[in-house]
Amino acid sequence: MPYENELADKTSHVDIIKNPDVSEFLSKCHKIEYDTQEIETLGNLFTKPNDCNFPRPKNIISIDGSVYESSITEKFPSKKIGYIKIGVVLLKYDSLTQIQGTSNFVDPFEVASFKENNDAYSFVLPSTNIVYDNCDYVQESFRKALDEQFDKKRDNENDPKSSLRETLFKMASYLDGCNDTRIKLSKCPHCEQTENIVINKDDPAPKCPHCGKRLYITDVLRVWEQVKDETSNKSALNRTMSVIERLLSIHYIRTIVESLRDSYVNHLENICFFIDGPLALFGEPAKLHACFMKYLDELNQEMRKFNKSDILMIGIQKSGLINDFINLIKEHIGIGEIYCLTDDFINKYVNFEKNPASDTFGKETYYGQHFVYKNKKGSVFVFTVPYPYAEKSKVSNFKNEKSNILNYKNIKIYTDLLDEFDCSLYPDSLIPTVLAHKYTAISLAPGSKVLDLLSRSKVL
Ligand SMILES: [Zn+2]
Repeated sequence: MPYENELADKTSHVDIIKNPDVSEFLSKCHKIEYDTQEIETLGNLFTKPNDCNFPRPKNIISIDGSVYESSITEKFPSKKIGYIKIGVVLLKYDSLTQIQGTSNFVDPFEVASFKENNDAYSFVLPSTNIVYDNCDYVQESFRKALDEQFDKKRDNENDPKSSLRETLFKMASYLDGCNDTRIKLSKCPHCEQTENIVINKDDPAPKCPHCGKRLYITDVLRVWEQVKDETSNKSALNRTMSVIERLLSIHYIRTIVESLRDSYVNHLENICFFIDGPLALFGEPAKLHACFMKYLDELNQEMRKFNKSDILMIGIQKSGLINDFINLIKEHIGIGEIYCLTDDFINKYVNFEKNPASDTFGKETYYGQHFVYKNKKGSVFVFTVPYPYAEKSKVSNFKNEKSNILNYKNIKIYTDLLDEFDCSLYPDSLIPTVLAHKYTAISLAPGSKVLDLLSRSKVL
């Protein structure tokens, strides 16, 4: 997704506000007013991050996607296909800091070598009024095409175990009632029966026991539920993109862990993933967020045995309600200071929740904790990093623990990276995210170069 000023916004809101109906409507809306004096004191919540002894990662893998939906012919404008493109860029920390040392203004596109170090994953999906490969309707077509393309995204063409679909199966195996060899769907996409809708891993063509229709591993994402025959499927495509962006980080981690059983802790310590948007899964795929937490925790337990940092992953949030509020208080934040957002802060200033639920914020969606940091150049970032726990329900008083910055032992690595990767091209932007976004548009390279490059550079 672009930064605020990355694409020019041509829409004008002035004309709308001048309309008498609109101004009458607005006069009846309640405005949220903040107490200016209170706002000024919020900077006091921020502190310098604690130092840590973990080394800074030498590799940054940045992931960012874009979605298009377009008509396939001028004759039939209502027939549309969806196109998701995810850019993955590998940045070498050392070469980047060397270049930055020579100038205050770095245009990452001037750095020719970075143009080589990227993958682009494309997904072409049937959308409005398109049926695919003998399917009967759009939803079925979407499911079939998505599953095929998850299988095709392989690091080794001849090994189905190296596919993105295998990574998804692995994540789904952490859901209730699932295991390494069989996963369960919440319902059959055809007959909607909920009992015994199971996919065995070794079954090449699993079917529903009630209606006999084909089931797919990617059905577990449930993104198909939003796909409609005759209207735009942009929201289903966006949700699919968002889940793939997050799943790709897990896919790279799984590949490293499974190909380097004896030494993966050393390699994972040397990589930080940058992801566009928060570490959370919204809507239909939300349940899988808990699987990501369990998988990351299993690996982090190993990392900690060897005194390594937990796996480094940062979700950069470029816009949204939290960003809007932080913009109001940003001048009161000290340089180099950080704040770990509490539920109380979010309920009071962001969600205006008068009766907050007793459950924690993002209980069903988030696998990362929100922080706000003002870097050494004065740019302010809202970001999430993984919760250092396997399961929210197993931590006593999770709500308090998750917002205690002392529980994030490696937080200084993240703030150092946010200092180093400040990008002068757009306000409050970062070089890894700007690059990954650009590459979704320009690269057509097949999808395993980043892993190849990591191995060639002897990082793996
Ligand atoms: Zn069925």
